[in-house]
Amino acid sequence: MTRHADHYLRVARRVEDLSGSSIFRINTKAQALASKGRDILRLDAGEPDFNTPAPIINAARKALDEGYTRYTPIDGLPELKNAIRYKLKRDNNLYYDEDEVMHTCGAKQALFNAFMTLLNPSDEIVIPTPNWGTYPSIATIAWARIIYAPTFQKDGFILQPEVLEECLSQRTRVVVLNTPTNPTGQVYSREALSALGNVLLKYPDVFVLSDDIYEHLIFTGEPYANILNVCPSLKNRTVLINGVSKAYAMTGWRVGFAAGPAPLIAEMKKFQGQSTSHTAAVSQKAAEAAFNGNLDDVHAMVQAFAERAALVSEGLAKIDAIDCLPARGSFYCLPNFQRVIDSLDDVGDDQQLGDWLLDELGIAMVPGSAFNAPGHMRLSFAADKETLAKAVERLQKAFG
Ligand code: PMP
Repeated sequence: MTRHADHYLRVARRVEDLSGSSIFRINTKAQALASKGRDILRLDAGEPDFNTPAPIINAARKALDEGYTRYTPIDGLPELKNAIRYKLKRDNNLYYDEDEVMHTCGAKQALFNAFMTLLNPSDEIVIPTPNWGTYPSIATIAWARIIYAPTFQKDGFILQPEVLEECLSQRTRVVVLNTPTNPTGQVYSREALSALGNVLLKYPDVFVLSDDIYEHLIFTGEPYANILNVCPSLKNRTVLINGVSKAYAMTGWRVGFAAGPAPLIAEMKKFQGQSTSHTAAVSQKAAEAAFNGNLDDVHAMVQAFAERAALVSEGLAKIDAIDCLPARGSFYCLPNFQRVIDSLDDVGDDQQLGDWLLDELGIAMVPGSAFNAPGHMRLSFAADKETLAKAVERLQKAFG
């Protein structure tokens, strides 16, 4: 007989140290309220609300008919690796050899492979805040020491070179860069990246981890740039992380990739080989079609996100108590709700505000403390315009 209630489960410390996701908590509560018939406006989504483009789905169907149902090489089918290299040349003007790229089970596993390969216990990793919660979680699993590098709204949530410099030491092993940024919706300019690159050049033992997953989702009209576009001499100690989840609305297919120096990729391959091995062959064929295909569907989606970003920022600008930097990329913005929190008797922080907004206004947003941004809420515009307009209206009514 299995007894659960009084079962003493001694979990390993690496798991014990992981904090539960408040994104998940808000998702679950929003779903529960909606299933009871409440009109809940879901602005908590971390994935595009579009379907995977038809040519990609057709490529996957064809692949199944052709028998892509078996194990593949750990670094990926050769044709997928070639598609990744083609994409890196076409979109990023970067050349990588075959042994410098590997596919992964989503960008998340590329990060996992890289962190676990680069970080020994007590090595330091610099993570700019506000940050996606998975970076510190994986660093925690690796028993690394996390050094948070704060960014501020007055600087457009862009990491300043002097702040980076203060965070670096002889113990630093990895610096994370993420542009466009989850959760701020901001985009690093070439100048901003170049200033950071100049600092990093002084620390030859530091690896740069560039998370480019929101690369295509930019509304400024400026072309995308990552650290290697402005500082090519960092190439032998930079690993690019990217994938199909966000640009091609393919979150469920689980395909990402890493591009970096061959010796690092070889070690990451060993790590992946002893964990997931690889993502499904059919997903790899779908990702191959995505990378080799044109960007028409991506551009249509970006146009829709840009219009929604404008709707949200114009709406929030009319509410004095909410201070929001308009999104320039990704599908998030990070309004500051501190004055709203201060004005509500029964709300003391952004976590409580998350519950209050759900209970009182029927709006689901993720509390900023999940991203090291207390006092803020992450608003996702992976929701249709009608939903966003309604949410803005409810916020205006409550706090305008
Ligand atoms: N990086 C960032 C900044 C993200 O927000 C996400 C997804 N939320 C990922 C990586 C992981 O994407 P994937 O679905 O490819 O694992």
